[in-house]
Amino acid sequence: MEITYNCWHGCHKKSEGCLNCYVYRRDEAIGKNANEVYKTSFFDLPIRKDKKGNYKYKSGTTFDMCFSSDFFIEEADVWRQDVLNFIKIRNDCKFMCITKRPERILECIPDIETYDNLVIYCTMENQKRFDERAPIYLNLPLKYKGIMIEPMLERIDITKYLDKDIDIIACGGESGDNARVLDFNWVKEIRQLCIKKGINFYFHQTGAKLLIDGKLYNIPRKFQHSQAKKAFKD
Ligand code: SF4
Repeated sequence: MEITYNCWHGCHKKSEGCLNCYVYRRDEAIGKNANEVYKTSFFDLPIRKDKKGNYKYKSGTTFDMCFSSDFFIEEADVWRQDVLNFIKIRNDCKFMCITKRPERILECIPDIETYDNLVIYCTMENQKRFDERAPIYLNLPLKYKGIMIEPMLERIDITKYLDKDIDIIACGGESGDNARVLDFNWVKEIRQLCIKKGINFYFHQTGAKLLIDGKLYNIPRKFQHSQAKKAFKD
């Protein structure tokens, strides 16, 4: 079972990939300010129990954390240790988060190598951010390393990082009315390099605007994941 676990909500735009952030879009639509970071009512979700005293979320559950924030946002420094304690308590479950702030990981969790059930992915959307974040992220003492290139904003040369320990690289486009274009050639190039180096590759979603051989396709939201899945079925 996989469940979204938003222990806090709100974030600050950090880099180019944040321009059309869905948290901001969604909050604006309901008159909220996504720049305000607050602890949510779901904060203790992993350790909630039912009437019989059993954990509400069974052993083997994957908690997908911070889909409406960043686990390493500064405001959460005062709350994070509680969540880290939940992660230790629920060592029968897996916790997953995606960050644009790899430079804060060790500062926030100095004993990161003791968290076997916490997987931290790092997202890098263009060459500038790849060159900035990959050297930090790939040198962390993490047991599993996953890079998300999403929204992929340009062709990225990743060759100099391929000898590092990387478990998976995922690519994806951008959704929403103002989505920026994803050129399928950029994705194909990353995939080829992954195949060559034995790194797992995943095309997560096409985004709303996909360029294939010079032709621009507008992909409706509901097909963005399924089309990506079909893209490399050869
Ligand atoms: S880091 Fe993520 S959640 Fe935060 S503003 Fe950027 S895209 Fe949005």
